[in-house]
Amino acid sequence: MGFSNLRIPKLCEFCEKPFEAKKVTARFCSKYCSEKSGKRQKQLAKEMEARQTLLEKSVSKIADIQTRPYISVSEAVTLFGISRDTIHRLIKSKKIPAINLGERLTRVSKIDIEKMFTAVEMPDKSKEIPEKPNFEVGNCYTISEISSKFYADPGTVTNLIKRNKIPTKKVGSFVYVPKNLIDKIFDGK
Ligand SMILES: [Zn+2]
Repeated sequence: MGFSNLRIPKLCEFCEKPFEAKKVTARFCSKYCSEKSGKRQKQLAKEMEARQTLLEKSVSKIADIQTRPYISVSEAVTLFGISRDTIHRLIKSKKIPAINLGERLTRVSKIDIEKMFTAVEMPDKSKEIPEKPNFEVGNCYTISEISSKFYADPGTVTNLIKRNKIPTKKVGSFVYVPKNLIDKIFDGK
């Protein structure tokens, strides 16, 4: 082709300065910008690859954890998204079996954590349904009624209601509380 008289105004893709291109396909103002851009592309590709490798590693790590009955505390953190503190507390209270293979080598039973974290969610859901407050007359206690029925002073009753997030309804100077929710608490004690 040789020389061309063509002059096309363009913006360099690397330094973003305007330049006059001799070819429609030109992307850079200079050899310098072209090389720099190539290096940057390679760098980006490398970073992408590193990120991809990291991702694949964590996927295969999780797959590997899934196959073992006993896992480390940090693996339990990865797998269940619960904190180290929670896990250590569960071990301490003997809620999940653990083996101590040495300093920082605690292994916990994966199945037991699994069971626990499904077991915790289930009753929570079933609790939410009957907790719809029923404020109809005859279905409610007043604070003083609870107080005399369960031999607790009104302050204690009020605290108990707050602590258990029991819904209440105020009518005049009386606070009405659904009977079933109160009975459930005192039954449980
Ligand atoms: Zn340039």
